[in-house]
Amino acid sequence: MDELTGWTAEDTEDVVCCLCRVPGTLVHDVAPFGVVRCPQCQLVFTSPRLRPEALQRIYDDAGYFEGGVYGSAVSTGAEAPSAEARLSPAMLLQRTWTAGRLALVDRERGGAAAGGRLLEVGAGYGLFLAAAREAGWTTSGVELSRTGAKHAQDTLGLDVFCGQLEEAPLIPGFDVVCAWDTVEHVPDPLSFWRTVRTQVADDGVVLFSTPYVSSLPARLLGTRWWTLKPTEHIWHFTPRTHALLLARAGLALTRVVRNPLAPANAGRLDSLVGVARPIPGP
Ligand SMILES: [Zn+2]
Repeated sequence: MDELTGWTAEDTEDVVCCLCRVPGTLVHDVAPFGVVRCPQCQLVFTSPRLRPEALQRIYDDAGYFEGGVYGSAVSTGAEAPSAEARLSPAMLLQRTWTAGRLALVDRERGGAAAGGRLLEVGAGYGLFLAAAREAGWTTSGVELSRTGAKHAQDTLGLDVFCGQLEEAPLIPGFDVVCAWDTVEHVPDPLSFWRTVRTQVADDGVVLFSTPYVSSLPARLLGTRWWTLKPTEHIWHFTPRTHALLLARAGLALTRVVRNPLAPANAGRLDSLVGVARPIPGP
């Protein structure tokens, strides 16, 4: 599906920088959308972008995760993926990330045994959350896509709330909050990280992954960068702008993994894994 077809200016809205509250200046014209950069903090974002109702239609599409990193293994809602699906490159990559990210969680927790409460925001079909549960975590999830949330709940038996993080009935004090490839999709990343800050324990840790617009593919390919996706990826960060954003939300960016050979970030030339911790209060 060509994601740019079918949308008109009526499906879009103008937005301002979530940090500085000013309009951006045009970087890429991908009509009816625009990719813009904040003249004050350099944060890159999509404006005009799809209105929330139009965006929800994309996420509710049963095919949303299909053909992406999830391969076809979960698209049918089958109990057990076929051997072919389990061994597909996309699924193998997915499993490498999951194992690498769980290992990173352990490392960030000082090698303490798994156990405690882990929240995943943007849980998709629940594959990471199921692996975390197997590793000994008490898991909770939030997922905007009804298709994804339903699979996580019904097929994997996970506790996943379908909706935005702000609306989720969660008990704060999570030891770990994960948000894999999620923050680039949310309406307001500052509000998102502030809500995460209210959910993570003061001695907890936040782990996330996100594409970054200062990566080599992004800089070399311009509008042909495969991750630009102006309908879904409505915010584009660099390590610097992300650190700025997190700090405004009370979180300190303490580690950035950009190496595509690191299991947590395997094969990803244009994405990074970040670790953040609550900034101690006064
Ligand atoms: Zn700004």
